[in-house]
Amino acid sequence: MRPPAPADELQIAGIARLSTCDWPGRLVATVFLQGCPLACGYCHNHGILDPRVPGALAWSEVLDLLARRRGLLDGVVFSGGEPTRQPALIDAMRQVHAAEFAVGLHTAGPYPLRFAEVLPLCDWIGLDIKAAESRYAQVTGVAAAGPRAFACLRMALEAGVDLQVRTTVDPTTMTDDDVAELTAALHELGVVEHVLQTVRLEGVRPEYRDLVTGPGARAESNVE
Ligand code: SF4
Repeated sequence: MRPPAPADELQIAGIARLSTCDWPGRLVATVFLQGCPLACGYCHNHGILDPRVPGALAWSEVLDLLARRRGLLDGVVFSGGEPTRQPALIDAMRQVHAAEFAVGLHTAGPYPLRFAEVLPLCDWIGLDIKAAESRYAQVTGVAAAGPRAFACLRMALEAGVDLQVRTTVDPTTMTDDDVAELTAALHELGVVEHVLQTVRLEGVRPEYRDLVTGPGARAESNVE
């Protein structure tokens, strides 16, 4: 068996040293991890999607920040990109707990095996469910991501972890009926907190912006 990857191996794309919105009700530092296997049209983080790009920040800098902010921060949120892509996430979460900070996770659930490993280490999860399972190819470019995300959702519900499910309503691929169908399916599964988010055009690729704002665009109420 391979030894667990040390947190020092994390590819960290950046950090928000203080966030009031990445974990509702908590003051956190948010660590953005490099790389994501999905290709959502509305992604405004595409600079950190490539997994081959090395990290811009060392893990020791995150630990130094926590040491300086003891008593001021409640926890750390691991975000991305897709944080569960990186095996070193497990050790990083353990170290955050050892430093007596809470651990939050933003994920779209494309790696159920890694998700199962980090689930017991999470105090809160913001899980992106992008669409109904059958619509993942259109929304994320990866059809297999649908069953994986729903597998993670079922694990999270079964574990009883504090969970917020989020859906960005993509006006180029989702109709109002799609959103209603997804909301009903999530409710049926036992999701209590489901938040619909609007697409933010700041930072998206120009092709996507044109799709949303160009002639023939629809559902502009789902755009900021
Ligand atoms: S899952 Fe998030 S980071 Fe990955 S492509 Fe989609 S919006 Fe971008």
